[in-house]
Amino acid sequence: MTTNDSRVRTMETKKGVSLRALRPEMWPALYAVDVSYKSQGYQPVVTSTDDGNHRPGSLHYVGLAADFRTRHMSPQAITAAVRHVTEMLADVSPRYQVLLEDDHLHVEYDRRVKR
Ligand SMILES: [Zn+2]
Repeated sequence: MTTNDSRVRTMETKKGVSLRALRPEMWPALYAVDVSYKSQGYQPVVTSTDDGNHRPGSLHYVGLAADFRTRHMSPQAITAAVRHVTEMLADVSPRYQVLLEDDHLHVEYDRRVKR
């Protein structure tokens, strides 16, 4: 899902990454990252959904986790994005978890988390 129209730039994906792999529970996560990144002037890029090599049992394989690029952002912007996305998703469900990894932001929806 990419577009060259700067007026309607939407979530971009790394080549080979499909947003269709994501379950609807992840749509608020995409929205939160989109809002947070763009409010700081950064284009969000999904770098992984159910592709790639994740740990066995990872929620990536069932469409409940996505990774977002951070290498194009300043450390301050990354910190702000983690806080912003965490706050937005906490308002939606306690099941979202936002983790800052070495080179990406990982967001997952864990159905096992009890309310
Ligand atoms: Zn991940």
